[in-house]
Amino acid sequence: MKPFTACRIRRFLFFTVSLALFSSCSVNSEKEFYTAEDFCSVPKIDAHFHYNTTDTRYLKFADSLNMWFVSPNVDAGRSIDEQFDIARMLKKEFGHKFFFLGTFPVDNYGEPGFAGEIIERIEKAVKSGASGVKIWKNIGMELIDQYGDYVMIDDPAFHPVFEYLQENGIPVLGHLGEPLNCWLPLEEMTLGNDRRYFQNNPQYHMYLHPEAPSYQDQITARDNILNMYPGLKFSGAHLASLEWSVDELAERFESFPELKVDLSARIGHLQYQSLTDHQKVRDFLIKYQDRIMYGSDMSVTDRSTDYGRITGNLYQRWMDDWIYLATDSAIVVKDLEGQKVAGLKLPTSVIDRIYYQNSGEFFKH
Ligand SMILES: [Zn+2]
Repeated sequence: MKPFTACRIRRFLFFTVSLALFSSCSVNSEKEFYTAEDFCSVPKIDAHFHYNTTDTRYLKFADSLNMWFVSPNVDAGRSIDEQFDIARMLKKEFGHKFFFLGTFPVDNYGEPGFAGEIIERIEKAVKSGASGVKIWKNIGMELIDQYGDYVMIDDPAFHPVFEYLQENGIPVLGHLGEPLNCWLPLEEMTLGNDRRYFQNNPQYHMYLHPEAPSYQDQITARDNILNMYPGLKFSGAHLASLEWSVDELAERFESFPELKVDLSARIGHLQYQSLTDHQKVRDFLIKYQDRIMYGSDMSVTDRSTDYGRITGNLYQRWMDDWIYLATDSAIVVKDLEGQKVAGLKLPTSVIDRIYYQNSGEFFKH
């Protein structure tokens, strides 16, 4: 593929520069705007990428594009212990180009010592080089108590955990709730990928489960935690599940000064909003440039054996996102029924913040 070749040639030119930039955690560009070609040379962090294999080729590939990872472990898929082992191994080998977040199971909810076990696990993860901890949507959407009621994230059983995290300044990535589309019938969903996902996973399509907590219940429980622990270093994964409205997000940024968010798997929702109000989305990203981190939510696993196809997909997604955020070129968005969306052409200083500095600052503690 042509773009790779171009990137590889540049890689050598920019290798030294970008390393120096990374260690000082600041990027200075003379330019006012980046172009599509700048993608390869500008230091970037995909702050939400599930690296679930010991195959290091994808890390090396990403590195050749000056893209580094924050890889959250998650209480789903392969065992947490296995994910942790993989992450520790990669951390040892790739140091400052690979960051990971530990996580914890919640099966022992209701047992004595529940919070203590979670804290122990987090402590161990951090000692092993984890840059923080990931909390997953199973809290609020799957976990039920002895009476059959859903356990929300503001349940008192988790209070000691949040106290510990706040006290120790440990960054938290919280995926709580789902996109609003999850509570809508398929035909009312705004994006094709949400429609496909919930069609294929009806167990998670909350429109079909009116007995489960509502969208608002999820948001309220999360906001309760932010109110209770104002010093908590908290980043809301997937635009903090407020992906459908930059106004709603802006309100939360104003109410919770410590709140950060990542863009992972929700850039389509920004694109959807920018179809009707391009300027508003652009202004929002500029205004809250210190609070937003780039992330894709893509993953590689042991099944990722087709190197050519997978690196092609990674490159395509990263590049599409770059073109939308950094340039004013139009991209065709498959999930918006092939509509063309004009890029936001954010200034280089904003791109550097969103792609690099914010996650560098947030995940170091
Ligand atoms: Zn994820």
